[in-house]
Amino acid sequence: MAKKGDMLYAWTNDSALAKKAECGGAVTELLKYALESKTVDAVLAVTRGFDLYDAVPVLVTNPKDLDACAGSLHCGTLLLSKLVMEYVPKMAGKKLGMVVKGCDMMGMLELAKRKLVNLDDIVMVGVNCGGSVSPVAARRMIKEKFGVDPDKVVKEEIDKGQFIIEFEGGHKGISMDELEDAGYGRRSNCRRCKVKVPRQADLACGNWGVIGDKAGKATFVEVCSDKGAKLLDGAVKAKKLTTEPANPKGIETRAKVENAMFKLGDKWRKRDFEALRSNLWETIAKETGRCMKCGACIAHCPVCVERKDKYDQPVLMVRPGFIPADPMFHLRRFAHISDSCINCGQCEECCPCEIPLALFSHAIRTEADKWYEPKLGKSAYSN
Ligand code: FAD
Ligand code: SF4
Ligand code: SF4
Repeated sequence: MAKKGDMLYAWTNDSALAKKAECGGAVTELLKYALESKTVDAVLAVTRGFDLYDAVPVLVTNPKDLDACAGSLHCGTLLLSKLVMEYVPKMAGKKLGMVVKGCDMMGMLELAKRKLVNLDDIVMVGVNCGGSVSPVAARRMIKEKFGVDPDKVVKEEIDKGQFIIEFEGGHKGISMDELEDAGYGRRSNCRRCKVKVPRQADLACGNWGVIGDKAGKATFVEVCSDKGAKLLDGAVKAKKLTTEPANPKGIETRAKVENAMFKLGDKWRKRDFEALRSNLWETIAKETGRCMKCGACIAHCPVCVERKDKYDQPVLMVRPGFIPADPMFHLRRFAHISDSCINCGQCEECCPCEIPLALFSHAIRTEADKWYEPKLGKSAYSN
């Protein structure tokens, strides 16, 4: 019987799914089993849309339909924890399964704190996350740095510190460090992110630490809750999944990689935040001077609950009749959300004027934490 803290290699017994899946298919198989066993009534996952730069959220009720979601979309920058609010009010006692990256998981915790979701009704299958690349930036990077037509790319992956593409006629990898030093690569919030293994989900799944003959063929699963252990045991008993204890050397490697990612996150925080320190107010005024008051930063933020008017339209606390928005509009917003900003990057990603909003909220959150922590004790999680 699996228990919280166990670390295993797991792989699907379905050979067709194994081919399609990222590295063992345990995530897809676990979610399929959750539906088949009626542990959940629906699953919120991600599937490929128009092309591999287009990650689309889907609500699945037929287990077979989950096969179309197998595989990782590293240009999928969507946040499922805000999208889940489309469904939660209609759930009425029903249970939901979700696949969550670190930021999705943290968003769910914030929604639970606000009593907008009940985590007892939700099973979260977590995926480790080294970062994601914005679709537009990925296309530009592939064209300019890889010298490849982005429309000819059939697969992308991030492995061993490289962004790797497969295209008609070959494959090519370039180190993330090189790409990021040249201004390409992961989103800036992802570079600063330190939630690499989502241990507050029910299971945390990834490819780090899968070594030997299982490399590329099994998913590394860390059991993070009793709910996760029960799901895993059920799927094994139903002969959907096979597991074996993780190789101790693999466990060590995974811990080393996670640690290296923390250090990289710290490096980017230092670089990004120190650049702001001397001229924070001027930078905020200059950058937000492009704001056209569309409200996307509020609509997509998991810690910001929109106020709606009697016509169900969002109410922006902003001076009417003037563009751009007054910088104080942004400062008020930072003041009310920065204490719980999870650095998911949605405000920045969805801003049509490319204002680095997540940078400001994250800087305020992190710097304030640094100041308060010695006085009040450590935060529940470090993001
Ligand atoms: P599969 O059975 O192939 O299932 C994959 C699941 O991921 C599907 O349910 C699909 O809905 C979901 N999914 C795909 N794209 C996204 C997305 N953009 N956002 C949310 N859900 C998505 N593992 C590591 O160990 N180290 C890493 O650095 C790392 N980085 C990752 C970065 C991203 C952006 C993503 C999405 C995943 C990352 N993973 C990483 C996890 C890894 O790629 C596999 O998802 C994991 O090992 C499970 O493999 P599997 O074969 O069991 O998954
Ligand atoms: Fe992954 Fe963190 Fe970026 Fe979310 S914010 S996509 S968890 S690196
Ligand atoms: Fe995410 Fe931006 Fe909201 Fe912070 S302020 S939680 S980065 S959307």
